Amino acid sequence: MAETRSAQEIWEIVLGELQLQVSKANYRTWLEKTIGIRYQGSEFAVGVPNTFVAEYLDRNQRSLIEKTLIGITRQNTRVVLQVNGHELKPGVRSPEKWQAYLPGFNPKYTFNTFVVGNGNRLAHAAALGAAENPGHSYNPLFLYGGVGLGKTHLLHAIGQAAQAQAGNLRVLYVSAEQFTNELVQSIQEKRVADFRQRYRSADMLLVDDIQFFGGKEQTEENFFHTFNELHNNSRQIVISGDRAPKAIPLLQERLRSRFEWGLAADIQPPDFETRMGILEAKAGQQNVPVGMDVLEVLAQRVQSNIRELEGSLNRVIAYARLLRAAITPELARQALQDIVGRASQQAAITPGQILELVAGAFQVSPLAIKSPKRDKQTVVARQVAMYLLKQESECSLSQIGKEMGNRSPATVMYSLEKVAADMGTDPSLRHQVQELAQSLRQG
Ligand code: ADP
Ligand code: MG
Repeated sequence: MAETRSAQEIWEIVLGELQLQVSKANYRTWLEKTIGIRYQGSEFAVGVPNTFVAEYLDRNQRSLIEKTLIGITRQNTRVVLQVNGHELKPGVRSPEKWQAYLPGFNPKYTFNTFVVGNGNRLAHAAALGAAENPGHSYNPLFLYGGVGLGKTHLLHAIGQAAQAQAGNLRVLYVSAEQFTNELVQSIQEKRVADFRQRYRSADMLLVDDIQFFGGKEQTEENFFHTFNELHNNSRQIVISGDRAPKAIPLLQERLRSRFEWGLAADIQPPDFETRMGILEAKAGQQNVPVGMDVLEVLAQRVQSNIRELEGSLNRVIAYARLLRAAITPELARQALQDIVGRASQQAAITPGQILELVAGAFQVSPLAIKSPKRDKQTVVARQVAMYLLKQESECSLSQIGKEMGNRSPATVMYSLEKVAADMGTDPSLRHQVQELAQSLRQG
């Protein structure tokens, strides 16, 4: 049975299982970008993005991967790791080992794309200082703040700026979770010395989400020594956490006090002005013209998480595209209402309810809406019912098609667009649809 599937198909199943067995950070870093290339005899070729990943997988995850693969193919199978079509030669050190880390940076997370406001001014200035003058400004630099406020963005920006300035600088970015995983694995495989060597030979170490260390004594112990070694050699260390060092639960006192040696800068939620600035910048990056009145709606609704702020903008843009409608404050409110209001309302609104309501409003029968009838009144009622279903429930296009008399998703799509367009030109239709939506929400 296995032979009938392509290598890529098999590999995707393997990845699906591995995803359940390793941590998210681990999966993202080492497995996500791999592909199944060839399955021949008892050899399974896997393509990986660079030598560093190949070496890591070879050392740390080969047995897990092979075990999983054998579970799926039911044959004894050996994994061959390939970089650009070349098989990994065990034991050969790659000179580009450090370079291999660079693709780990998100090219969008730079100082250029970081909008400065009152809440993050100090953190931003300190981050710039660390990037421009590594090891000689604040060491360590500790950045802390709530979720989605730009900590990871700043760490990536520091790493990329420092790297751009001095190409041979060995910059290492790692999440605390990944650091922990690698340590645990290196212990299991008796390669702790390699692990230490790797971290202690960095010129700049960026550690994200340090709160993960809390209560993990062995990791803290190890990090403590890495920290000291780097710090003694004036290597820049930048750490992020979700709160100030002294507030992190279960962190050893000696680590805590070291984190306070340099500068601890907090990031506060953005004020209204900064939220507007961020939205403007993000809309600009996407090349989508969005009016200030629309951005204001978003900036007012989403206040304390920049990731959500960004998400809400993307949602509004996608929503407008789907409906082929102009991006107006009203449309933005609708798009966001779905996010905020859905969880509580969703249970109450069923296709049957919508059908009843629309049929009543257009004075046709629910059965007629589901039937093939094509007189104008019935067609409009049907289209409005589909539109409301899309907006007010979680139904997919094909589910809506089924509910409305077995119509195709393409027909549903067409109807949604038609209603949205007509609402733009026909105020009385718009008014009617909005009233219907309102009465649905109020149950
Ligand atoms: P954290 O690590 O603090 O949870 P992130 O760095 O992942 O937050 O930021 C979440 C999202 O918000 C990212 O897409 C990031 O680019 C964006 N972001 C955060 N702060 C800013 C800012 N000041 N300017 C522009 N984008 C920002
Ligand atoms: Mg983060």
